[in-house]
Amino acid sequence: MAEVDLTPIPFPTRRGGLTPEAAAERGLRCSLTPAATALPTLERLQKAKEAGIRRIALSLDAPSPEVHDAFRQVPGSWERTMKILRNAQSIRLSAQINTTVARHNVDLLPDMVPFVQEVETYRHHPLFRDLRDPAKLKGRCGACEYKVVCGGQRGRAYALTGDYLESDPACIYQPRGRTHA
Ligand code: SF4
Repeated sequence: MAEVDLTPIPFPTRRGGLTPEAAAERGLRCSLTPAATALPTLERLQKAKEAGIRRIALSLDAPSPEVHDAFRQVPGSWERTMKILRNAQSIRLSAQINTTVARHNVDLLPDMVPFVQEVETYRHHPLFRDLRDPAKLKGRCGACEYKVVCGGQRGRAYALTGDYLESDPACIYQPRGRTHA
């Protein structure tokens, strides 16, 4: 079944055009990407769900407001995003979290894992499944007998190698059985 993102339509579809109801009648699954404003209230999210919206997508760059708000250049953006997320959870409306990874937050990626698990959101997202799975580690970390208890600093691996599963470049430990870095 096709999935349609109605992102260009301001929440809650104020411009008319292709509505969730009309899309649902045509067999299309609809999602929304609301901006972090006061518009996506609990009541509106409920109406959106009843109208056929199956998922919302939210941008969240950090587990705390400072980094997220500075990057988005909108004070209060993090709090509003979290409110929308919790409202969606309260009515069992699926929520997808989009994280822009760059210098401003790469070191916070490992902290995002317990954070999103705590708020019970996208624990099944491929990125975080990877980060939780020591068997996915590569290089020295992948060969290391301590990978389950250590695993290396994933944010640093990503920043310096471009692959968050690669060896932690700051670790000098040479795993047993490996003779090269
Ligand atoms: S090599 Fe170092 S950083 Fe990598 S998993 Fe082993 S102990 Fe951790």
